[in-house]
Amino acid sequence: MSNEKMSFWNSIVIKSAMLFTTVIVVALFLLGYLINRQASGVISDYSQDQMLHASSLVKKSFYSMLNEVANDIALISKSPAIDDYVNNPSAENHSTLEKSFPIILSEKPNYFQIRLLDVDDDGKEIIKYEKVNEYVEKVSFDRLQHKGEKKYYKEAMAMDDESFYYSEISLNEEFGKISRPHIPTLRAIGKVFNQEDQLKTLLVINVDVSAFFEEVNQIGKQEIASLIIDDRGEYKYANDTIKRFGRQLGTGEAMTNDYDIVLKDFLLETNRNGVFLNRQKVPHLYHLDEMSYSDGLHRLYLITTASKEAVLANVAKVNRDSLLMVIIVCLFLLALIYLYTNFFSRKLSKITLAISDYEKGKVPSDHLTKIKKRKDEIGLLARSFSTMRKEIDFRVVELKESLKREKKAVAEKNEFLQNMSHELRTPLNAILGLTKLLHKNKPSSAQIPIIDSLQRSAGNLNGLMHDILDQQKLMEGRITLHRVATNVDEQLQTIVSSYRFDTIQKGLELSLTVSSELKEKYYLIDPLRFNQIVTNLLVNAIKYTASGQIDIQAGVLERERSHLTIDVRDTGRGIDPQNLLNIKERFFRVMNENTLRIDGFGLGLSIVKKLVDLFGGDLNVTSELGKGSIFNFSIPAEVAPPDSSPASEAVLSYPKLQATYHVLHIEDDISSQLMVKNTLEAVGIAVVQTNSMRQALQLLDNNHFELLLTDLMLDSELITKYVRQELSQYNIPIVITSAFDSSKHKDLNADYFQKPVDLNQLVDKIISVLGGNEYDVPQLKSTYEQYDHKKEKIVNYLKILDKEFDQYLLRFNRLSTSKDQKEWSAIKHKIATHINAMQLTRLKEALPERIEDLQPDTLDLLLNQVKFMLCYFRNELRINLAD
Ligand code: ADP
Repeated sequence: MSNEKMSFWNSIVIKSAMLFTTVIVVALFLLGYLINRQASGVISDYSQDQMLHASSLVKKSFYSMLNEVANDIALISKSPAIDDYVNNPSAENHSTLEKSFPIILSEKPNYFQIRLLDVDDDGKEIIKYEKVNEYVEKVSFDRLQHKGEKKYYKEAMAMDDESFYYSEISLNEEFGKISRPHIPTLRAIGKVFNQEDQLKTLLVINVDVSAFFEEVNQIGKQEIASLIIDDRGEYKYANDTIKRFGRQLGTGEAMTNDYDIVLKDFLLETNRNGVFLNRQKVPHLYHLDEMSYSDGLHRLYLITTASKEAVLANVAKVNRDSLLMVIIVCLFLLALIYLYTNFFSRKLSKITLAISDYEKGKVPSDHLTKIKKRKDEIGLLARSFSTMRKEIDFRVVELKESLKREKKAVAEKNEFLQNMSHELRTPLNAILGLTKLLHKNKPSSAQIPIIDSLQRSAGNLNGLMHDILDQQKLMEGRITLHRVATNVDEQLQTIVSSYRFDTIQKGLELSLTVSSELKEKYYLIDPLRFNQIVTNLLVNAIKYTASGQIDIQAGVLERERSHLTIDVRDTGRGIDPQNLLNIKERFFRVMNENTLRIDGFGLGLSIVKKLVDLFGGDLNVTSELGKGSIFNFSIPAEVAPPDSSPASEAVLSYPKLQATYHVLHIEDDISSQLMVKNTLEAVGIAVVQTNSMRQALQLLDNNHFELLLTDLMLDSELITKYVRQELSQYNIPIVITSAFDSSKHKDLNADYFQKPVDLNQLVDKIISVLGGNEYDVPQLKSTYEQYDHKKEKIVNYLKILDKEFDQYLLRFNRLSTSKDQKEWSAIKHKIATHINAMQLTRLKEALPERIEDLQPDTLDLLLNQVKFMLCYFRNELRINLAD
């Protein structure tokens, strides 16, 4: 987790809150939309219903007005006053009538005229009362008129006897003029018969329909308005009085002017709902109904209408209200979600803080104490984390302990390896040295194979010791390559010949095929490590092949001429494909199916692999179980320049030492003591031996020694301490032999030989120290500096010197008999450079101009000086070759 800061938008809590908010908001808006749609529908339906209702109220009111008048007419017609008059139109009956008529007018506010028309006299008004400004007045005789020509008169006359007639509604006219004030008038007429059933008069009542209009006005309140028109579109009623009676008044007002309709089509079907536009193109909802009366003679159209906008205003209001509602609910929800997420993130951040504290290794804080008590998921999470923390702590402690144990085990293993190699190397050293001595002591022919076998076994053991050491060094990267011009063919021949005995013993054929290129040219490789690779592969081939043959093939790669390629083929047991990948691993071994034993130590191939890697090469294995294996490795190797000479085995010869030098040898292993004593005494050095350090110090105190050779028999730390504090005070050269790894003592002012000790090298070392008292010590410092202390160059240089001086030794020896002055001058000339470079003053003085002047003593000195130098070079070579 580290110090990572989580971005706001990455929080799961925020994300889920956002998601829920979005879902809720969308759902609310959807709901709002649905409600709105529903509401619009409901509202328009409601408006239509309202209109229908208004329409039916108007109708009801209209018809009840007609009924009322009809009832009144029926009643008045049957009144004794009228009955008497129609049966006997006497003056007396006329005056009776005159008394009853005004009562009717004053009782009925909306009746403003009542008349009797004489049917027999062309509709002449017999009696007429009218209401003027609330006063009922009798119309004087001279103002009575004939109405026989009037439309209403004719229509009334044409009616059934029992029916009542109602005229169209129009403004009242008197004497052909519209009377003022304008009175919208409906004329109701009933027929009056005499006893003989003869039609005598028409009873006419003029009804002022203003009251009805007022009622219509009342009904059509709010957004609903009513219109009453006739079949020609004239407004009988409109809210706006100016609009009314347009045709009669000649104003031109008509419904067709105000609405976008075709009257004929519009009126075609009644009792219906619809939408029309007014002149301003504003849509209006309407309900159309008809009111037919007077036995269908007249027809009025009733239109109840509402502007759609007005209706929709309601819908908009519902919209606004519901939107407001949605917003309020959303805000409320957001607030709720904010509180909720805040609550969660606070709790969670406490947990994450605790985790991060834990990660940083801080002491567990009490952030979680409260949260842990919660019963919800957060509490569970906090508790789980606490438990996990304890578990991890516990595991970490366990892990640390097991790591400690493992470290200890590794240390113990290393210590064991060290001790084991120490324990093994000392006797091994002795065995190897002593077998060599045995060989030198002219053994009998019967003893030779025994000694050889002894030597071979010791050699194998020695190989194993080296494998263990090399493995360790390779692991630590302490092995470096020293490339020198090498004849690969010779190297391979030597290896093959040293294993021929083993193959013959096992009944195997061993062959070596080397390409001509490898025979002719020298290649720059590290022969020691190259040999180690080939030897390991060959040893394995021999080890894992029961019968058949082993072939070693060497050449250069076709595609890459500067690469050597070496095959080691056998017809052995082969390797299971599933093990092929593992065999190069350290300590990997395969069980032998036949013996059910696991052979070897699993070191050989891992060393080979690491060495090939060090060379920068490739190791490949192809193998078939039961048929054999091919181990191939290829390594880059440049061809050595023509003048470079091959590394050669030095002919070991030592200078004679004039004085007898005393070496104190401290060693607790008797075999090693014996071996060293024999070797050093053979070159004329006196050896005093002891196995105790205490005694050694006494000896040092009481005697004079030129050199101290010691196996300290102590562990590595103590050796360092001992050499530094105790031995250094005697101021004599110290040579250490030890089974311990030399790398640990590099800083000691002592030369170091790791056991098993190569005795020749030990003698070289000791002679190059002691001989320094008698011979010129070659000064190599300046040359080393010249080579920048580069080991590879120094090694090459030393090898050349060694070879050259080896040749001088040979030539000086020959000169002692040939006395060839030319050769003498040539050598002198050649050696002169070395004399100067290495400051060989004694040698310089000893060389006479002429060969005749070379005294036997001088020659002897000369030869010993060269031998000393060879010893010295070999010793330098060893030091420089050491890792
Ligand atoms: P070691 O031979 O000491 O066991 P190595 O590392 O040399 O260890 O080899 C590892 C394993 O590889 C061996 O145990 C053996 O099973 C197998 N092996 C190596 N070389 C051969 C070979 N030439 N033929 C068959 N098996 C081999």
